[in-house]
Amino acid sequence: MNHVGTFTCDTCEGDIDCRIGFSNRKTQPLSFSCPHCQALIEITLSLGDSPSFKLNGVSNNPDKRYGMFDGRNPFIDLHLDFPVWSTSYIPGHTPYLMAIQKMRKVDENTKERDYLHFQQRLNHLNELHEKAKDLKRTLRLYHGDNKKLFVKKAEEFTEEKLERTLAMEDINLALYRLISTTFLPFIDPVSTARFTSDVAGLVIKIATDNNNAFNEFMDELINTKILTNLQRDCLEIYPRILNAEIALRPALFMDFVEEEPDNRISGKISTKDFNEYKDLYKDITEILGKQLTLVAAINNIIHRKNHNKFKAKDGGTLSSLSKFADKTLSEKFKYLDDCWFKFDETAVNPGARNAIAHYATEYDEKTQIIQYFPEKEGLKQEKPQEMFFLEFMRILLIAFREMHYLHHVIKSLFYYEYIIRKNENKKPSKKS
Ligand SMILES: [Zn+2]
Repeated sequence: MNHVGTFTCDTCEGDIDCRIGFSNRKTQPLSFSCPHCQALIEITLSLGDSPSFKLNGVSNNPDKRYGMFDGRNPFIDLHLDFPVWSTSYIPGHTPYLMAIQKMRKVDENTKERDYLHFQQRLNHLNELHEKAKDLKRTLRLYHGDNKKLFVKKAEEFTEEKLERTLAMEDINLALYRLISTTFLPFIDPVSTARFTSDVAGLVIKIATDNNNAFNEFMDELINTKILTNLQRDCLEIYPRILNAEIALRPALFMDFVEEEPDNRISGKISTKDFNEYKDLYKDITEILGKQLTLVAAINNIIHRKNHNKFKAKDGGTLSSLSKFADKTLSEKFKYLDDCWFKFDETAVNPGARNAIAHYATEYDEKTQIIQYFPEKEGLKQEKPQEMFFLEFMRILLIAFREMHYLHHVIKSLFYYEYIIRKNENKKPSKKS
């Protein structure tokens, strides 16, 4: 369903022709910048018995005779769920239809299946977004003293009750059920399930093959609280991803589009803007950097039977894991020799990340182009690099997925601690 209408900008009184494609979300906060004066315009569509619009920055003027979409006014296509590629009004060429045409197709069946999969994700998001605050509160309880309340709330959230005790392994079971159910629309469930099972097996294998080395590594993780802190960092990201759900929808759609490096990223997003999400990206890459420390430690145990032992590089070598932790994100990759974890490096754009951290980004709402000025040797480069907002949301999504994969490493290490090490440490003399 589409709504076609002309609106008048409250700031400059210029007329704008709009075609609004309907999503199934109950409220649809659409926004764009006025093509005449760049003022922010917000159109919130509410679905009910009959759809209604709440306008902010534009008006519908009943005394005015509006144009006929004949090109006299600038034209804007809007749709919450899909990237928008149009530049002018063509009857019938709605964002929905244009998006469907861009979907990759091996044959009609795969296209249909992909579209169904995307629709399922959207339906899930439509239910979930209203629970973002609830999720945040529930996750906070995990770190608190009342674990019983946490388990109760987590079970309410997933609508799933499991037989459990209040042992840490059971509390973690509730936690990871909560996360995997809730974040299903954002991830690839098949590869995530495969990775989860692979990493659980890997932890057991390296612990068995290198028991002493692995125990030293675990001692360091537990005694320094690295694992606990890293888990806490990850858990703070999840509610923020749920909050970013509206701007992530078009990025999620790109999962189903054939890669065309020249134009795949140029579609527009019909809501919010870059400035709302830049810190989220910066924070995720920060966590990825810390998670790589776990990846490196496991890699060192696999190759050299010692989590602190790195492969010599350019005549020198890193003396310990904490030296590795001090390296920048892009430097860290150089020390992961023949690595067991295949990191998707497209998730990390160090130039954009550093520019965000140093307030060296500029965003043009009209073109949705982000300009960022990466720093080199402490000096801000004069020539900016460019990225579309959609491209940015895409790398944010990929970075989140990498963080989520690596969170399963944290999960597996905790299970090893709670189920295997705790039991090994129980001395028979303590039996009552
Ligand atoms: Zn205007």
